[in-house]
Amino acid sequence: MIINSSIIRLNEPKVRHSNKPAAGEMPNSGPLIDRWGRIHSDLRISITDRCNLRCVYCMPEEGVPTLARQDVLKLEEIAEIASISFDLGVKSVRITGGEPLVRKGVETLISMLNDVGFEDLSMTTNGMYLESMAEKLKSAGLKRVNISIDSLDEQKFASIRRRGDLAKVLNAIRAAKSVGLSPIKVNVVLMKGQNENEILDFARYGRENGVIVRFIEFMPLDASGQWSQEKIVPADSVVETINECWPTVPVFSEGLANSAPAKTYRYLDGKGEFGVVASMTAPFCGDCNRLRLTSDGAFRNCLFSIEETHVRQLLSAPDSRKQVERAIRECVWGKKMGHGTDEPGFVRPNRTISMVGG
Ligand code: SAM
Ligand code: SF4
Repeated sequence: MIINSSIIRLNEPKVRHSNKPAAGEMPNSGPLIDRWGRIHSDLRISITDRCNLRCVYCMPEEGVPTLARQDVLKLEEIAEIASISFDLGVKSVRITGGEPLVRKGVETLISMLNDVGFEDLSMTTNGMYLESMAEKLKSAGLKRVNISIDSLDEQKFASIRRRGDLAKVLNAIRAAKSVGLSPIKVNVVLMKGQNENEILDFARYGRENGVIVRFIEFMPLDASGQWSQEKIVPADSVVETINECWPTVPVFSEGLANSAPAKTYRYLDGKGEFGVVASMTAPFCGDCNRLRLTSDGAFRNCLFSIEETHVRQLLSAPDSRKQVERAIRECVWGKKMGHGTDEPGFVRPNRTISMVGG
């Protein structure tokens, strides 16, 4: 699909590093580096492509293709690949999907990943099953959660997420807070004509409930191909709308958080902060440190990548760790400078966000 970029000006990806590829060969040791000099330390693992919801911006309502069970990585395989990634310098892991909480044994997996020793272990979930699982997940070693919600209005929630129940997600947020999963981030994908009139309601909700709301720009990764530029609510307009009501200042972070996709703003009256993920209008590719593992064992160096590196079969080789390590290095080395959604020849990836893991 070719995207017409005449409606909203999509900015060039912000590049802090060299915008010329580094000369020379892929290194065989040291951190996971790409040819643009970006070091990769964050791994998103999709542990299932299945989901109990059918959000309009993600999955089609009916006829969702799913992987055969035998094609999905076993928990032990996920933990082994994560451990190899850790040895390559990966410091933070986010469990995602599909919906990670529909996967049997997710607590066991968290505990296995916790044993590897990552600095940060988090999860993105739609929250439908979280209320009853929050305590077990926390005890297994989960540090924090991002909970997707999209609307605070029951009817609109139902029309965007198609299934599920707003009250359950709100209860899940309370439960996550009470067991000490912290900080709690609440993800809102904004779409024109759907929920852009809820920006202030969400800001108020975040301020009153001690959670960080993150407004995410709609990306061309939905299975139904409904995305269009007209449906994007630009992050700048979100910041402007909130500032008119509750003035904020931008927060500059350091270290690991510096490559976080969200730009964060702090309320001047001390009532917390909110974030915007401007993947479309101000891509943060120049700071990207992320790498993704699909639930069937393929590494992808970008959400928008059309190539992937399968590593599952390498796990049974006699020198498996070395082989997987090499495959991961090659995948990272081959990363493009930007996601390219604003380029004339942009082609949508063949796997949607629920398959690759958002
Ligand atoms: N099922 C879980 C959930 O909904 O939180 C985890 C997987 S979901 C693919 C991860 C995140 O991607 C969610 O916050 C979701 O809102 C976001 N997402 C899905 N499709 C998107 C799209 N087309 N554009 C922007 N964000 C999207
Ligand atoms: Fe499922 Fe998450 Fe996609 Fe919604 S965004 S359909 S909850 S995977």
